[in-house]
Amino acid sequence: MMGDRSFQNIIQSAMSSIGKELEIEIDPKDIQTIHLQEVTQCLRRSYYDRIEPNEIERRGFNELLSGLLRKLEYGSEPKEFAIDDIELKGQVDMLVDDSILLFRSATGELENPQANDILYLNACMWIYDKVDGVIVYITGDRKETTFTLTRNKKMFEEVIRRVRVLHDLLKEQKTPILEPSSDCSSCQYYERCFMKKKNTKQVSLLGILGQ
Ligand code: SF4
Repeated sequence: MMGDRSFQNIIQSAMSSIGKELEIEIDPKDIQTIHLQEVTQCLRRSYYDRIEPNEIERRGFNELLSGLLRKLEYGSEPKEFAIDDIELKGQVDMLVDDSILLFRSATGELENPQANDILYLNACMWIYDKVDGVIVYITGDRKETTFTLTRNKKMFEEVIRRVRVLHDLLKEQKTPILEPSSDCSSCQYYERCFMKKKNTKQVSLLGILGQ
């Protein structure tokens, strides 16, 4: 009979295989192509993903929703936006009636959209030249929260700045600075940036400052 432990391992490994299938394909050596996902998350994480990657641990099938929709290409081929000699490549989850739709998983109903999702959606509106965008958050128990966005130039300029920074750091093989955020606790590089995770609430300031 199959124990709970091995059953969990099977599900984890299934999620990991599907997740790999659905990941955006990034050629780590092609630094002239920067992917939108890389600059709307922590740049240090994107740098490690290219230079010395660790596998990400997935927590649930609803995390895979966005990748599944992208793969099915509901009217949304990946698109590139030229920034000097760099191509910024983005892909939306869905294009419906000239509006861009993104779908994201959430653990509960949100009062505001996540900052990196706003950056991603806004940049897509410039890359695809559309003026309306929607983010739909879906929880494990199928509750939806929807936010709409009108495109904003200043926010897109910030994304362009981050594209140039990541490109230059990859070229010079320099690790980006820490970008501490709530994402760090689930980041696969937490121990590289901070310290070994322990099941205690004690925090070593020396461990952080020693970086
Ligand atoms: S732990 Fe935080 S700062 Fe370090 S790479 Fe991950 S997200 Fe970035």
